[in-house]
Order: sequence, then C-alpha cells, then structure tokens
Amino acid sequence: MTDDPLQEKRNRMVAQQLLDRGIRDPKVLRAMAEIPRHLFVPPAEQEEAYGDRPLPIGADQTISQPYIVALMTEQLGLKPEFRVLEIGTGSGYQAAVLARLVAQVYSIERIPELAAWAARRLESLGIRNVQTRVGDGSQGWHEAAPFDGILVTACAAELPEPLTQQLADGGRMVIPIGQAQRQTLMLIERRGDTFESHSICGCLFVPMKSG
Ligand code: SAH
Repeated sequence: MTDDPLQEKRNRMVAQQLLDRGIRDPKVLRAMAEIPRHLFVPPAEQEEAYGDRPLPIGADQTISQPYIVALMTEQLGLKPEFRVLEIGTGSGYQAAVLARLVAQVYSIERIPELAAWAARRLESLGIRNVQTRVGDGSQGWHEAAPFDGILVTACAAELPEPLTQQLADGGRMVIPIGQAQRQTLMLIERRGDTFESHSICGCLFVPMKSG
C-alpha cells in the first residue's frame, strides 16, 4: 500500500492516537494502519477521516473515534480462528478491522440503508469474511452463535440477555452500558455460567434502539 497517499496519515493516526495512548496489540495496530478509514465516511468527511474524533456517517449515526475502535478491538483478545459478532455495523469500518483479525465476522445493523452501504463498501474492498444483516442486534444472531467475541457499538441501558447467552464459554464481550451522557464501556467475560464484568472507561455512543 506504499502508493496510497493517505498511508502517511494512517501511520500518524496509529502512532499518535493509538500507540501513544497505550494500544499495544501489533495486529490491531497493523489492521488500523491498513484499513482505508476515509472510504468509510461520506465524501464531505474524508479530509477528517484520520482525525481524533467520531464522524457523521449519515442517518444521524457516527463512526467511532479511531482510539475507541482500537481499544474495543484490543479488549476482545482476538485469535485468528475466532468468530465475532458486532452490533451496529454503521459504516462497516469496525467490521473491516475485525475482519483482518479473525476468521468470521457477523454484523447486525438496524438501519437498512447503512447496512446496504456498509455491505457494498466491504465488498468493494474485497473483504469477504463479514456477513451483514438488518435487524435488532439486541437479540443477537441465534443461528450463528456461540461467538468467541461480541462487540457492541451502540449503548444499551442494560446488558441484553440474548447476547450473554450467545457468548461462548471463555468468550468476551465489549459493550457500552448506560444512557445519554453517563455511559461506561464494559468488558464481560464468560466462564461457564458466570459472567465477570470490568469497567474499561467512560464513553459516548449513540443509543441502542430496539424494534
Ligand atoms: N461500528 C460502526 C459505528 C456504528 S454507530 C462503524 O464502525 O461505523 C452505532 C450503530 O448502531 C448505528 O449505525 C445504529 O443504527 C446501530 N444500532 C443502534 N441500535 C441498534 C440495534 N438495536 N441493532 C442493530 N444496530 C443498532
């Protein structure tokens, strides 16, 4: 990708926004240096695509700030053979990052036009190990469960029960919990029928909507 004029911007994003703030997983850093984030935002936002902030992606939704994408991805402790569920496909950027790191990604989006744009982008980039579907992600993706990792990119008022049920034994889920301006990014780890939860940091996501 040396002929990509934006490679330098991506390298700077990785160095200043990720490495300098403690993201250490080399595979996460490499994936984010490679995925062309500017192609996941509307043309009017492309100049800003490598900035340290979330950006609008249409339909009143946002793509998360690069650091949050990296942090959530790193917290899942991914292995190449993993199958991962994402709730909130949005632009498809987070799904593209995950797709570099695991065998199969399943991603659910409730807004049909966002889901369609994301699927088209992923296809045009030759990313074939992401399956997308339109629906209410709080119900999970029963037929494809269990998942080694679940990454939720919309804030839920409480932990959705179907998602905990669809987490494999030993699996991890990263999910923002709370409401409006009071949200905490949580890491949930399943051991048998026990779920251990840790708070990672405060965060600000769009709300998870049901129905
Ligand atoms: N991961 C995305 C960012 C998504 S923003 C990216 O990388 O671009 C959160 C997304 O969650 C929005 O697109 C929103 O429509 C979606 N969403 C909200 N509630 C949902 C639900 N119940 N099921 C599926 N998607 C939902």
